[in-house]
Amino acid sequence: MTAARECDVLVFGGGIAGLWALDALRRAGYGALLVEKDALGAGQTIQSQGIVHGGGKYALRGVSDLEAVRAIAAMPARWLACLEGSGEPDLRAAKVRSRSCLLWVPKSGFFGDLASKGLMTLVVGAGLLATKPVEMPESEWPEALRKSALKVYTMAEPVLDTGSVLSALLAKNEDRVRRVAKVEFALEKGEVRLDGAALRPRAIVFAAGAGNEALLEKIGDAPGRMQRRPLTMFLLRGKLPELYGHCVVGGKTHLTVTSVKSARGKTVWQVGGEVSERTAGAADPAAARAEAVAEVRKFLPDLDLAGAEIASYPAVRAEAATSGARRPSGVHVERVRVEPAVLVAWPT
Ligand SMILES: Cc1cc2nc3c(=O)[nH]c(=O)nc-3n(C[C@H](O)[C@H](O)[C@H](O)COP(=O)(O)OP(=O)(O)OC[C@H]3O[C@@H](n4cnc5c(N)ncnc54)[C@H](O)[C@@H]3O)c2cc1C
Repeated sequence: MTAARECDVLVFGGGIAGLWALDALRRAGYGALLVEKDALGAGQTIQSQGIVHGGGKYALRGVSDLEAVRAIAAMPARWLACLEGSGEPDLRAAKVRSRSCLLWVPKSGFFGDLASKGLMTLVVGAGLLATKPVEMPESEWPEALRKSALKVYTMAEPVLDTGSVLSALLAKNEDRVRRVAKVEFALEKGEVRLDGAALRPRAIVFAAGAGNEALLEKIGDAPGRMQRRPLTMFLLRGKLPELYGHCVVGGKTHLTVTSVKSARGKTVWQVGGEVSERTAGAADPAAARAEAVAEVRKFLPDLDLAGAEIASYPAVRAEAATSGARRPSGVHVERVRVEPAVLVAWPT
């Protein structure tokens, strides 16, 4: 029988949380190893829209979300430092799709705009927002919003190609990442068996997104730590301009649009927002897609959608459980076991 190998920290999950943790641990001098069940980024990270939120959008939602604004206010500056190479981790190799993200109020949202503006003034005035929404002069509005928007704000919240962020983190840590099909825990002996090979980690981090639930169950943790918020995400391809922004009415984000260039050079919009929440788990995906197109037409009536194609994919936000299944206000890291220590993490 071969003796179990020692390791400081064993990280589960190769999405943004796991790869970021692995990189941070190694920079701090720990002997860390990351194990991934499927493909790196196979979960939410690749499905996401890649916006580095600084709270501008949440600030319009309601005073109950000020905690979220506080929790993420510093994020855009932190990420920008990494992208420029002056912060850790060094993410100079990652691709930035857009340096900023817009907030626009459609003409139909006049009363909503008044309500939003009151709260926005409060939040900005209280110094809570690091990336303040700045009202754009009409002459600088993107063509797609020119006729349909009442107000357009810009925020210094970058939009990233999340695959390239994962690649940048992987490039520095490739030798410490393994794909593992079978995991067995024998924590009373301090051991984890990875495809049959025994390892003795001093600490374990579950950063496996939705996979954390099954991992927690495997170590005998009580159920109920995680919640899932399902979404239907939409992809729209056609004669579309590049656009990155949120359509906000009265504190509700009706649409969130980000853009990607397809292999054939066409612009593809990734569309999320309230329509994604409303159509989550729809029994008829075609009806959900029609609803999304109607929503785009409603808030961007001048957009030329002739010949546009639409697709959809189901996604789930895996998060720490909250009362009423609300969106958690910030990152959640919790120790669920001592000796070896097991931590569970969900970014938000
Ligand atoms: C549609 C959508 C849009 C979003 N848009 C944004 C946005 O614009 N901005 C933003 O900040 N956030 C956004 N989010 C949230 C963000 O994507 C997530 O908070 C983040 O990606 C979660 O990262 P993660 O590493 O915790 O999980 P994941 O990215 O889900 O990664 C988990 C990884 O763990 C692996 N895994 C699962 N089980 C196991 C196991 N047993 N052993 C080993 N590995 C395992 C999975 O295969 C996967 O690779 C969005 C989320 C969704 C769903």
